[in-house]
Amino acid sequence: MTDSRAGLERALESLSGFAEPVASLEQYQTPADIAAHIVHLAWVNGDIEGHQVVDLGCGTGLLGLGAALRAPAWVLGIDIDPEVLLTARRNADHLAVESRLAWCHGDVASLPIDGPEETTVLMNPPFGAQQGHTHADRPFLAAASSLAAVSYSVHNAGSRAFVESYAADSGGTVTEGHEATLDLPHQFEFHDERRRQISAEVFRIEWR
Ligand code: SAH
Repeated sequence: MTDSRAGLERALESLSGFAEPVASLEQYQTPADIAAHIVHLAWVNGDIEGHQVVDLGCGTGLLGLGAALRAPAWVLGIDIDPEVLLTARRNADHLAVESRLAWCHGDVASLPIDGPEETTVLMNPPFGAQQGHTHADRPFLAAASSLAAVSYSVHNAGSRAFVESYAADSGGTVTEGHEATLDLPHQFEFHDERRRQISAEVFRIEWR
């Protein structure tokens, strides 16, 4: 178990990233400082310990693994790309927290599971920037609303009105929201700079 937020960040920094990131799936690993921040916030709010934590679009497992490192919880990671689940599993081995984890191949748009009462969703969904359509995060919010009591999610800057109205339409409430800067490395051919800063927002939503 990792007791401090700084320790969590260091542990998450040591994990492997996407070996061959797929641009159309917006496979960007959440920077370790932001992932540690989200997990720490969820833990402080009592949303991790003893909960079922579902990492939707888990990629390399960063958010779910952070939760497992922070407190005893059952963690399920789900991703549409089976390749990344192998990296998530390796990352779990590296951190030696595998016993409480499961990795599942699936599409958030058609999840064959129901969450127990105490389910917390953590997610950094695609924003839709590359596909030229907005709100690629909508099916992720839909999945969170049916699965989770509480979710934490990263969205692009300026999403607050959309997220609030989506939550309200599903009987939920945005209880916290703040800005975050994602410092991302050059990853795809269409990136010109070595690193880029993306303005984002993190929200906590109570769904029921
Ligand atoms: N949660 C990880 C990865 C974020 S990148 C992290 O924080 O680092 C977004 C992830 O969503 C990618 O791994 C991508 O494969 C996955 N994804 C995209 N569309 C999906 C879908 N419809 N269902 C499940 N996963 C999806």
